[in-house]
Amino acid sequence: MTRFSIFLADEAATINLGEDLALTVGVGDCLALHGDLGAGKTTLSRALIRAMAGDPALEVPSPTFTLVQTYDARIPISHFDLYRIGFESELDELGLDEALERGAALIEWPEKAGSRLPANAIHVEIVHEGAGRQLTITCNAGRFAERFERVQL
Ligand code: ADP
Ligand code: MG
Repeated sequence: MTRFSIFLADEAATINLGEDLALTVGVGDCLALHGDLGAGKTTLSRALIRAMAGDPALEVPSPTFTLVQTYDARIPISHFDLYRIGFESELDELGLDEALERGAALIEWPEKAGSRLPANAIHVEIVHEGAGRQLTITCNAGRFAERFERVQL
């Protein structure tokens, strides 16, 4: 189990981290983004997706109502928001497994996935700390931990 923690003083710091993480994401990676409403899950996801797509102006809305949005990027990246699902089984219809076969996934409100969350998910937790945020990444995937070392966290 590897754990990284970083203080993000403002939105720009969250965006910077998203851009850094974009370099590390590979096929099969599932990032579970934990944090209250307004923590910065969508902000981080947007920056990561834009960087992976190489398009800083790419529109990346919160998938609160669509539940999932997939982007053509360096590899396909699917952005899930599970807040509104009622049952874990709804996740099957949203195609998480297929998304991970072809590319990577970012999941907001991963708690809703219950036992359907992949066991090798990389957990990212964002909590309010003063006016900023404390972000902690926990993962047990060795290859991902190795890749993190290349990124200035
Ligand atoms: P979530 O998806 O977790 O509900 P959003 O990304 O939609 O959160 O909203 C996060 C809000 O917090 C945005 O208004 C954003 O500008 C702000 N924010 C993001 N990161 C930070 C940070 N590190 N410090 C302070 N504010 C931040
Ligand atoms: Mg959100």
